[in-house]
Amino acid sequence: MEDVLVVGGGPAGLTAALYLARYRRRVRVIHDLRSRALLAPLAHNVPGFPGGIAGAELIARMTEHAERYGATIEKGRVTRLSAREQGGYDAMLDTGETVSARGAILATGVDTRTVTLDEGDHDAAVRAGVLRYCPICDGYEQQGAAIAVLGSDLHGAAEAMFLRQYSDAVTLIPKERVALTAHQRADLSASNVAVLERKIVAIGHAGQSIALTLDGETVPRRYDILYPALGSRPRTELAEQLGIAPDAEGGLVASAFGEALRPGLFAAGDVLTGLDQISVATGQGAMAATRLHNWLREQEHHVVTEDTPVANGARPRR
Ligand SMILES: Cc1cc2nc3c(=O)[nH]c(=O)nc-3n(C[C@H](O)[C@H](O)[C@H](O)COP(=O)(O)OP(=O)(O)OC[C@H]3O[C@@H](n4cnc5c(N)ncnc54)[C@H](O)[C@@H]3O)c2cc1C
Repeated sequence: MEDVLVVGGGPAGLTAALYLARYRRRVRVIHDLRSRALLAPLAHNVPGFPGGIAGAELIARMTEHAERYGATIEKGRVTRLSAREQGGYDAMLDTGETVSARGAILATGVDTRTVTLDEGDHDAAVRAGVLRYCPICDGYEQQGAAIAVLGSDLHGAAEAMFLRQYSDAVTLIPKERVALTAHQRADLSASNVAVLERKIVAIGHAGQSIALTLDGETVPRRYDILYPALGSRPRTELAEQLGIAPDAEGGLVASAFGEALRPGLFAAGDVLTGLDQISVATGQGAMAATRLHNWLREQEHHVVTEDTPVANGARPRR
């Protein structure tokens, strides 16, 4: 029996594992190698890395760091999570193995809705930096670039407006059709964000540009960067198996990193509704680990409670 099972080997899960290992807990991390951080070619906003750090290198370093203190980190997919009658959780893996733990942390992240390229390779376009999914992460690096944003709904419009702070040449292009009110269109127009009406029928990548062919056009339009604004889907399925419903935005409630989702079960990182960023995920991972460790200590009667008188009769601070 593990003390803690962490589902997820991204920044949230690996930070939680590091803290728990240093709290001298038996901690096992299971991940299916789909951390979104692995997609970041070079993250420039991770504190302590002024020259930037590749997402894959960050994950490798965080893995080594947690393992150094005894965390076990392994590849696998958790297909089912259930509560044990006698307390704790059973996780069934795709290998058929069952992992049992007294407590668990869900650091399962989100699935980004990606585009399909008609010409070229999607991952090569991401590596080349012409296809990007996170304006907050890398908008700064696109100053002055010709930027296309795919998705002409409010989400796409908000993303285009955000990127407009970095470039004068931002164009919003619909996946199907423009779904904006006259008022929203006026806001975009006032900020010089172009809105095209025809939907994209083909996306191609070669070299340092992205080619977008619109319905009824034969010559592709070229842009330096395409930001698809198609949203993401939080990976909440394991929580849902335990009867925990996602909130209106599809994630787990953000307060969950402070409060347990249910006894001995916490969540951290992108799977919580909030700001999907590495720094946030690491902070929440530390918080969830500490809350869970303290909860385990309570189970072990390894705490001084408010009701326990101390030597001079004063009550201790928690
Ligand atoms: C292209 C791109 C670039 C980015 N650049 C930056 C950047 O520059 N700066 C920044 O701050 N943020 C950046 N981000 C966002 C950042 O990657 C995420 O905020 C961060 O990875 C969230 O960490 P997390 O641990 O919550 O989730 P993730 O890192 O996504 O990890 C989720 C983990 O859960 C595992 N998992 C989920 N379900 C299961 C299951 N059932 N069984 C086993 N394992 C499971 C996955 O395999 C994965 O290991 C970028 C994102 C993208 C897509």
